[in-house]
Amino acid sequence: MESAGLCDICKKTAYLSSCVLCGKRVCPSCVDPMKGVCVACKRGTDIGLSGEGIKELD
Ligand SMILES: [Zn+2]
Ligand SMILES: [Zn+2]
Repeated sequence: MESAGLCDICKKTAYLSSCVLCGKRVCPSCVDPMKGVCVACKRGTDIGLSGEGIKELD
């Protein structure tokens, strides 16, 4: 579902969609169109998927 408004990430006015993970309203340049995941969550999921190296950060 799309509606115009301010992107929660870059604060530009655009047609927004909701991130499937966090529910932020994000513009097309701040969302992965394949996954429907915003760049902020994508960063998180990418780290989660790669897994290694972030287990214990001292
Ligand atoms: Zn944006
Ligand atoms: Zn998100």
